[in-house]
Amino acid sequence: MEDLNKTIKLHCTFCHSEEFAVPYEGYSPPEGTFVVCSKCGRENDVTSLLIIAKAKGLDIATDYANQLVDKMKKELKNSFRNSKHIKIR
Ligand SMILES: [Zn+2]
Repeated sequence: MEDLNKTIKLHCTFCHSEEFAVPYEGYSPPEGTFVVCSKCGRENDVTSLLIIAKAKGLDIATDYANQLVDKMKKELKNSFRNSKHIKIR
């Protein structure tokens, strides 16, 4: 699940840059505040950024889960490949 967290990033609403002017690396701004995009200099509402990030995170999590299921199905197929009685679609 660590890899999953890394793929979820905040994007500037205006220019889609991932770079924000933050006080230190790894800083996560609290909800209800604003962060300034270091590319276009505009202020982004943190609350809406987080909502977007969460929505994206959900998509990623769903994809991730689907991949796992596919992988499991393939493994199951392989382990029952020689069996005439069990068929997995
Ligand atoms: Zn920007």
